[in-house]
Amino acid sequence: MELLEERIRRDGVVDGQVLKVNSFLNHQMDIGLFNEMGREFYRLFGGERVTKLLTIEASGIGIACIAAQYFRVPVVFAKKNRTSNLSDNLLTTLVPSFTHGTTYQVVVDRAFLSPTDRVLLIDDFLANGAALEGLWQLVRQAGGTVVGAGVAIEKAFQPGGQRLRQAGLRVEALARISAMEGGSIQFVR
Ligand code: 5GP
Repeated sequence: MELLEERIRRDGVVDGQVLKVNSFLNHQMDIGLFNEMGREFYRLFGGERVTKLLTIEASGIGIACIAAQYFRVPVVFAKKNRTSNLSDNLLTTLVPSFTHGTTYQVVVDRAFLSPTDRVLLIDDFLANGAALEGLWQLVRQAGGTVVGAGVAIEKAFQPGGQRLRQAGLRVEALARISAMEGGSIQFVR
């Protein structure tokens, strides 16, 4: 997606293997841009009879909420902390965090994912694929179907995208970065 690539080129900050996009995605959010991303996810997955969007807190939530206005379905976000206001009937899995170097438990209340659900996974970044794999796992536990994953930015030089596609998941990334050495960002062509 040209608009997103341009924005990454203009405002993205490379910090080793991490791309910082705090000025439009991970801290301050450009809702006009999110709207175009949501429209594009709908163009790609609108024919899949999606019943829910599933993302993981925190940065996927904004993107998923805007996309949901196109799909007209609810957004469920996996929580990283088991809070006391959740039921005991939880779907859970462990996800190693790319940016924090820790592993955390993520949970979704069983009430919000069911065997009849056709779920589109949404996230901001795809790196090693652990976050999407965790979400996929939660839907499998619920007996539902994952129709695919929509991510804003895939770092295609990291193994997650290839691994997930080989495992049979349809992964669509709106911007695919092939390299970001020396601070210069290259996109997959
Ligand atoms: P994965 O689980 O695919 O290794 O990493 C995906 C998760 O890690 C995303 O949910 C995102 O929050 C975070 N992440 C991975 N790489 C980057 C990056 O380069 N920049 C930012 N801002 N977040 C990243």
